[in-house]
Amino acid sequence: MHEEITHPCVQHKLSLIRDIDTGHKKFRELATEITMFVCYEALKSVRVKEIEVQTPVSAAKCNQIDEDIVVVPILRAGVGMLDGILSLVPSARVGFVGLYRDEETKEPVSYYERMPHQVNDALCIIVDPMIATGGSTVAAIDVLKEQGAKHIVVVCIVTCPEGIERVEAAHPDVNIYAASIDDGLNEKKYIVPGLGDAGDRLFGTS
Ligand code: URA
Repeated sequence: MHEEITHPCVQHKLSLIRDIDTGHKKFRELATEITMFVCYEALKSVRVKEIEVQTPVSAAKCNQIDEDIVVVPILRAGVGMLDGILSLVPSARVGFVGLYRDEETKEPVSYYERMPHQVNDALCIIVDPMIATGGSTVAAIDVLKEQGAKHIVVVCIVTCPEGIERVEAAHPDVNIYAASIDDGLNEKKYIVPGLGDAGDRLFGTS
């Protein structure tokens, strides 16, 4: 299952983050804001438990999130989504997967893995702004499943049909949430129209 968040507030921010004239400070702010919206949707079915609190007027039955949540940014661009998701679920634990794309094979190569313990029963949310070929996402899901994770979702800002197909073919149990499903990939495996190199734009390294 994959879902594109077509809400006008998200699409408005997407128009700003795509713009070549948006500098890294504004780009980071927009990445945080878009991440919050997309994660809000991705978390709509999170398990809750009913609790009772006392308001100034009476007792109130309330729901609180009752799931252990582990956020896994794919280094390095995924770090640009961490503030956004942690502002929704501040108590989440955080793991990291470092993958770079081999420029010849275009396949992901792992250079760093640091996961929290006991992810078996956690809701694991992989964050990466761009799911292009889907190779890095599949590799990150593989890492989490090797650690025992059973409930994984992926949150990105922009993806494309090629990326979705690859992830869904390898891991049909993993849902993908995106602010946009773009047209496709160009010959350099960049998403079109996309927003360029998300890591460079987040960290001002272009
Ligand atoms: N990674 C990016 O940062 N941008 C793309 O378009 C594809 C992969």
